[in-house]
Parts: sequence; structure tokens; C-alpha cells
Amino acid sequence: MNMAPPPFLLLLGLLLSSPLFATQVIADDCAAVKAKYHCPDKKHRLHLSFDDGVGSVTDKVLDILKREKIKATFFVLGNKIDCSQYSSGKSLTLCQQRFKTLQRIKREGHDIGSHGYQHLHHSELAANELKQTLLKSRQILAPYLTTEPPIFRLPYGDGWFNRKEKPLAMQTLKQLGFEHIAWEMTAYDWNEKFQQGDKILDNVLDQMCSGRGRDGVVLFHDGVHENEHEGRLFTANNLARWIPKMRCVADFKPLLHFKKKLKKR
Ligand SMILES: [Zn+2]
Repeated sequence: MNMAPPPFLLLLGLLLSSPLFATQVIADDCAAVKAKYHCPDKKHRLHLSFDDGVGSVTDKVLDILKREKIKATFFVLGNKIDCSQYSSGKSLTLCQQRFKTLQRIKREGHDIGSHGYQHLHHSELAANELKQTLLKSRQILAPYLTTEPPIFRLPYGDGWFNRKEKPLAMQTLKQLGFEHIAWEMTAYDWNEKFQQGDKILDNVLDQMCSGRGRDGVVLFHDGVHENEHEGRLFTANNLARWIPKMRCVADFKPLLHFKKKLKKR
């Protein structure tokens, strides 16, 4: 019996697999993305940042960034890679894995900043306690911080959002030589109500393209601060799908493109 496919199917297969067809599909997809979010022809500029790691999904995020040739910034919690807390057992093994991932982040050319030693409301701390915890995060992360001055992002935007009423956290960071890095856009990927379909992508592209539009740093999460061993699964599982759509309307830039005060260490 002759099992060869009919000629029209062969022709269709050839057409679908041709580079010309693939380019056209991408162009059509991008036209749809641009129309959906009302983005201008001129591309925005974007930098991805990830808070609350090092998490169990950070390696997956790194794989995606590597494939897409994107350099991002990771704001790491000191206690997640401080393996001196554990003497043995599963916690030590997991900590050692996270520590290896931290080394990989640096090796692959991303930027690393501190998110504190613990995920605290820093503006609620007394002056001495605040200073001690900031120094502890710097001490543990020092070999891995990639910029001069070293960068820091306060958890909860705390002390940055409310810096007029509670200036101590921002003042102390400055005294200790940290540069605080906030964000221009936020994915709200920590919020479960957005963890479905493309709602997180919608959050980013709506902020980027609506009104006068925004360029700059976007806040994502690769860790779950309440649980040191967890990662933001939904973000890690969907990032590979979202990046090409972001690329339709934005060019990815390194952190130093936006933060001219910083130098690479
Ligand atoms: Zn955080």
C-alpha cells in the first residue's frame, strides 16, 4: 500500500516550514500585540528585574534569559544564600543549590543587588537594627554584587514609596553606600488574581504603552519571600511565552542603560 501523503499536503508542509512563513507569522503576531495594547511604532525600552530569589525557579528563568540573550537584574535575599544557618540535611542541600544558582547569575552577566537579609518592612525598624540588617545583607552578598555603587531594592517598596514620612531606610541605604533601584513598571506577578492566562503580560504592556508610555525597569519575582525554598512558578512557566510578545513592542536593555550613575564592578 502506498503511504506517501498526497502532493497538496507535501506542499502545505513545505510552506508552513519555510522561513518566509515563520517571519510572516511573527509579523502578524506582533501586529496583534501592538494593536491590543495600543503601542506606538517606535519601540519602548525595557529592563527585566526579579525580586525575592534566589528561588527554586531561578535556574529556569536563567535558561530563558540565556536563550533570549537578555541581561536582567536579580535582587536577592541574603538569608536564601547564607548556608551557614544550616548544619546538615535538606535545608543545607537546598541552600547550596541556591548558592550555585547565585554564582550562575553572576557568571552569565546579569546584575545582582540586595533585597535585604530578610524580607522586612525596613521602615519599621529601629535605626540600629536597620543598619545591622542592611550591613548583614551586604556582607553575605558582597562577592556577588555586580555594580559600583552596589544596588539595593527595599521589599514592599517600603521606605521608597513613603520616604517623606519615613525617610530613615532610604537615608541609611545612602549612608552605607547603596544605590536604591525602584521600578517604572510592575508585573504584579506575586498576586494570585493575575496568575492566569496573559494577565501578567497585560499588566506590563498596559503600563508600558498606555498614555504617554513608559520605559525602564519592570518588576517581576523569581522567589516567594514567605517560603525560602519556593519560586514564582507562574512567572517562570510563562516567561518564555511573554518575552517574544514584549519584544514586539520593546527592546531589552541592560540596567546600566537606564541607571547612568552605576558602573560594572
Ligand atoms: Zn520582595
